[in-house]
Amino acid sequence: MFLGALLTTAHLEADAASEDHCGSCRRCLDICPTRAFPAPYQLDARRCIAYLTIEHKGHIAHEFRAAIANRVFGCDDCLAVCPWNKFASAAREHRFAARAETADPPLATLITLDDAAFRARFAGTPVKRTGRDRFMRNVLIAAGNSGDRTLAPQAGALIGDASPLVRAMAVWAYRRLATEADIARAKAAHLTDESDPVVRAEWEAPCDDLRPATHQSPDLAPRTFKSEPDHRA
Ligand code: SF4
Ligand code: SF4
Repeated sequence: MFLGALLTTAHLEADAASEDHCGSCRRCLDICPTRAFPAPYQLDARRCIAYLTIEHKGHIAHEFRAAIANRVFGCDDCLAVCPWNKFASAAREHRFAARAETADPPLATLITLDDAAFRARFAGTPVKRTGRDRFMRNVLIAAGNSGDRTLAPQAGALIGDASPLVRAMAVWAYRRLATEADIARAKAAHLTDESDPVVRAEWEAPCDDLRPATHQSPDLAPRTFKSEPDHRA
């Protein structure tokens, strides 16, 4: 689905309100992992994973991290469950086709991307718009949610990243994946010199925030990546 806006100074007559095509359906409300719909026909974008992982420039609040699960760029679960979308057809414009590099790449690969590798991999795609730091923030949340302890060394390596956005989520992911002894060693090595208050807070966050997450969309295949065509090029 593509949304757009047209701004004009013309005086236009208001047209009739759109018909209600939803009836008693509430699938989109019920599937939403972050409860972003406070009521039918209302969306709180600040809770939407598509907004949080693509548009939001800052840290992602604790309350959303487990629900984000393995989504590193977008969500659209609400669109996937909408019965009206069974009438949608694939676009014939070749530029809208999904690209191979956005088809569920493993977290073990994404978590190793530095800025040059990120740019090279996602040049010409909407993913590049987030920039490497925000993208790595998302990847580290997915890694922390994965329960895959083999990702702990890569998460640990990013604790020394130049970006506080990355460091904060590296600490969060590492504390979910590493052993208690390794976490204690890393904290001793990094916390004293850490000047960013958000990163320091991640080190000091209570352990009940660090339980392994298993939340995935129940009706949809888990995925590390939401591919989108580059319609902004
Ligand atoms: S895109 Fe995902 S998080 Fe956003 S409203 Fe839809 S289901 Fe909820
Ligand atoms: S899933 Fe589709 S039809 Fe059902 S309430 Fe949401 S928008 Fe309406």
